Formats: sequence, C-alpha cells, structure tokens
Amino acid sequence: MKPVGPIPSGYEVIEGELAIGGRTARALVDEAGGTPLFVYSRAHLDARMAELRAAIPPRVRINYAVKANPHPAVVAHMGRLVDGFDIASAGELALCMAAGIDPARISFAGPGKRDSELEAAIAAGVTLNCESEGEAARALVIGARLGKAPRLAIRVNPSFVMTGSGMKMGGGAKPFGLDAERVPALARHVIAQGAEWRGLHIFTGSQTLAAEAIIETQANVLRLAAELAEAIGAPCPKLNMGGGLGIPYFPGDTPVDLARVGAALAERVAALPSALAGAELCLELGRFLVGEAGVYLARVVDRKVSHGVTFLITDGGLHHQLAASGNFGTVVRRNYPVAIATRFDAPAEEEVNIVGCLCTPLDRLADNAMMPRAEVGDLVAVFCAGAYGASASPAAFLGHGPAAEILV
Ligand SMILES: *Cc1c(COP(=O)(O)O)cnc(C)c1O
Repeated sequence: MKPVGPIPSGYEVIEGELAIGGRTARALVDEAGGTPLFVYSRAHLDARMAELRAAIPPRVRINYAVKANPHPAVVAHMGRLVDGFDIASAGELALCMAAGIDPARISFAGPGKRDSELEAAIAAGVTLNCESEGEAARALVIGARLGKAPRLAIRVNPSFVMTGSGMKMGGGAKPFGLDAERVPALARHVIAQGAEWRGLHIFTGSQTLAAEAIIETQANVLRLAAELAEAIGAPCPKLNMGGGLGIPYFPGDTPVDLARVGAALAERVAALPSALAGAELCLELGRFLVGEAGVYLARVVDRKVSHGVTFLITDGGLHHQLAASGNFGTVVRRNYPVAIATRFDAPAEEEVNIVGCLCTPLDRLADNAMMPRAEVGDLVAVFCAGAYGASASPAAFLGHGPAAEILV
C-alpha cells in the first residue's frame, strides 16, 4: 500500500460525491459534455488570494505567473484578484490582452524572447525583464524603431537559490537572468539610452513549503536588490522578489506557514534599506494561487486484475496530468491526492492501481492506493490539478485529444 497526497481543503461532499462550487462531479461532467475534465474553482481562487492578502503586508503586491494556468477564464478571473501578471511568451501576452488585462500591469520574463515578441511587448507597453545584455540591446533597437521608450527591468541571476532545506549559495551558471555583478552596468546603460527603467526581478525557485527557506530567501533578495540599486545609482521603481511558495502534493507535505512568512516580510518591509525606499515590491506566484483550485476528473472505463493486482483504467492520463504521473520533474514517483469522486465519502476497502488510457507504462495516476471499490463509470479525481496540468502535459501524445476545462 502507498498513501496518496493530502486532499486540499474546501471541497464538499453532496450525496456522497465530490462537489465543487455546489455541484457534484457527475453534474459538472454532464455540463461540460464528458470526461476527461479539469474543473477550476472560483471559490478556491478567491479564498487563496484572501488568505494571502491577509498574511502579507499591503505594500507587497501580488503577480500571477500565467504559465501555471493559462486557461482564459482563469486568467480573466485572476485579473480581478491580483495586481500584476508575469508572462513568458507572446502567446501569454495575447492571452492576457484578450482577457482585458492592462498591459501596464504585465511583465515579460523568459530566455529566448524573439524580436517579434520584444516588439509586441514594447508596442503594448509591457515591461520586459531583460535576461541578457544582448536582449536589452535588441529591445533598445526595436524601441527606437517604434519611437517608443521600452519599459525595461533586469532579471538578476543571484548567487543563491531557494531550496526546501534552506539557502544554498552558488546559484551558478544559468540561462535565466544576468549574473548579479553585471547588472549595474547594464542598468546604467539602458537608462542612458532612454529606456524607461522598471527595476529588478529576482526569482530564486519554486515549490518551497518551508517557511524558513522562504523567509531567508526574501531577506537575501532584498539585500541583493538594495546593493544593486545602490550600485546603479538611480531609484529602483520596482522589485519583483520572486515567489516560490509551494503547495502540498504528496503524503507528509504540509502547507506553507503563511502567517510566519507574512510576519517576517512585514518586518523587512518596515525596515527597507533606503535604496529600495520608493520601490514597488511584488511577489510572483503561480501554483500557490491556482494549484489547489483545480481538480482533474476522468472516468473509469475498465476494471481488470493482472497477477492479483487490480487496475482501474480511466479515460484520462499523463497526456493531461503529466505531473501526477510522476514524469514532470520528479525523481521518485509518489501519489498525488487522488480519490474516487463518485464515492467520495465511502470507506477505502481495496488496493488499486489507477492508470490512464495511454499505451505506455508511464501512464499512472495512483499506485497501490487504498480506495473505495470503484466500477466502470465511476469518476476518479486527481487534486492539485490547477497548475501545470492541461497546459504542461503532452495533449497530442497518442491522439486522445485535450481535456475540457471549466471554471465554476
Ligand atoms: C515558473 C515561474 C514562476 C511560477 O512558479 P510557481 O512555482 O508556479 O509559483 C514565477 N516566476 C518565474 C520567473 C517563473 O519562471
């Protein structure tokens, strides 16, 4: 037997079934026209933002990293909740514009921005987080051609990274950002060339649950930003402090102690170094904002036994939920939070392997998990599917096609 991950709070049971936004899993599947289906919960998105706002000082703004979940309805909803958006492609820019998001609230990071992407961003008035001297030079040329001062920030490759077990120094060589010691010279150059100076972006890592590591990283980010701002010699209009707050996916994971992180941040913000006194501060978060708000629903299409092991075979799989299969950046496969949605309050009584419909042994949704007895037609729920699910999975693999997505 292998445990499954912790089911996020806020999900209901109606008539024995998992319910989201007051509707049962079956009703949601009927409404969407079938399985597989991602359901995103407005109530969860709202609750998470409220919790975050209550914990962190009001001076610190919140950006949504669109790559976590680019579903248009989710982006539009986040537009009403967050202060800014972080994008990483012209595709995400178009998505934000279509959702009616003011380009002045958008910043664009990511290595390998093409000239056409720089041009679209500059024309729209989006801030570019420059990843290199070469990219900044191209942005200046394009700005001059358009007759528009590009809004430029610099993404810093810091000498430290955030890990679950405290700070590791020596971030080392990376394709992201500019090595910290070269930042002041580039910043002075772009300012001298007439760019609108937008400040610094320091992203240090992802999926951290340890409050201590987050607190230490934020202190290091503020220290480094102050040093750089001083060396640049111009006021720092904005500091994107990165994010990195994680969510519990696996057995034994516990949520970030948000109150602790917020209190430590409030202390730092109250005693900001003078070089950052006028800076707008923001955190950029993806999965923390949306991850627990999503549930992936797939239907059991076959139930079979092989060498004494029971398999529940679903119409979903890794082509929609690559991360739950253990093939998206994990070393050891562990079970995501998974349940039988149509028997949500029934006692677990049998050990099963829940798999997808792809013809590959990689396509596993839960291994050796204790579940209520499920039959063909039952629905399986994979939780924590609100981030890096539909858009981070190989939907074209094996030709089953994409999953439906709804926001309720
Ligand atoms: C991916 C990414 C994020 C979002 O990471 P999460 O773990 O989803 O919070 C934020 N900023 C940058 C620069 C990223 O590349």
